[in-house]
Amino acid sequence: MKRVYNFSAGPSMLPLQVLEKAQEEVVNYRNSGMSVMELSHRSGLFTDIITEAEKLLRELMAIPEGYKVLFIQGGASQQFATVPMNLLGKNGKADYVNTGSWSKKAIKEAKKFGTIRVIASSEDDNFTYIPAVDRSMIDPEADYVHITTNNTIEGTAYLEIPDTGDVPLVADMSSNILSEEIDVSKFGLIYAGAQKNIGPAGLTVVIIREDLIGRAPENCPAMLDYKTHSESGSLYNTPPTYGIYMAKLVFEWLKSLGGIKEMEKINRKKAQILYHALEESSIFKSPVRKDSRSLMNIPFVSDSTELDAAFVKEAQSKGLETLKGHRSVGGMRASIYNAMPIEGVQALVTFMNDFETNYEQ
Ligand code: PLP
Repeated sequence: MKRVYNFSAGPSMLPLQVLEKAQEEVVNYRNSGMSVMELSHRSGLFTDIITEAEKLLRELMAIPEGYKVLFIQGGASQQFATVPMNLLGKNGKADYVNTGSWSKKAIKEAKKFGTIRVIASSEDDNFTYIPAVDRSMIDPEADYVHITTNNTIEGTAYLEIPDTGDVPLVADMSSNILSEEIDVSKFGLIYAGAQKNIGPAGLTVVIIREDLIGRAPENCPAMLDYKTHSESGSLYNTPPTYGIYMAKLVFEWLKSLGGIKEMEKINRKKAQILYHALEESSIFKSPVRKDSRSLMNIPFVSDSTELDAAFVKEAQSKGLETLKGHRSVGGMRASIYNAMPIEGVQALVTFMNDFETNYEQ
């Protein structure tokens, strides 16, 4: 069987054990004579799957009482609009931090619904760092503060979550959810598209503090109102059933590894191997400031676009897939989400070293 190391930013690799388990069960799930894809979302078998998925996620992230977990559709991009539609109150104000392309999209969408202030930005330096945010910068009358905890394209991440006091903190955690331990109680709302650390694309996870539910205006479409999904246990309409099943398998895999604490150790090791190789390299370097480096997405550049292209092409022939950087940063980007094994990162570093030796000759 051919498998490659896929460094794609998303959809990304899934753990092999998860794919094998899904393969085993795909035609006849638990002797039902049906695939999970064919089960009614109101059946007992599917109820067990969604209940277990939520239970495991709560356990893995230590989600406190007083928070709801919603399994919905629309991707993180839909949340860019759903968040302001639900959370902007009579003041209609929110504060955003602009740390890259995805933040910008969130800001653009939110501006359709209220008065949006950008309280900090790293656009001045091509988003190569995370700007400082402290309580004094936040409007105490804002309905929420929005951050992107990991910037998938630029390869930056918050090393510390800002303290927003009484103003609820909303986070787009699409590209680093489940990668390291976080204190959920610091957030009012967390959302994430599934297709990096959770499962296949098509599922969106929202973790929301209960007091933030039920604030949407009367004319909010039912599908975009958190209350709808909260009251129906994510079963208002047909949810992405197979995606939820796959997420459950991923959560089981994470638990079997020892949970997020162990996953974080592995992720730190993987990132350290790659950042160290970049420090040592005479050709490639990280464009990101040291105090803002992501564990999940690691861009690197040389000073020649021809060399970058040759690297990406040769890497692909060695089973190292999708290393081309995003067009806004250039060069390469290695996305090393939870499912990327340490061997994948080691293979990349070995290839980098060989490439460099050949180049120098
Ligand atoms: N936010 C971040 C940080 C992302 O990385 C992405 C996709 O890569 C998105 C939002 C958009 O997610 P979706 O495609 O689920 O709408």
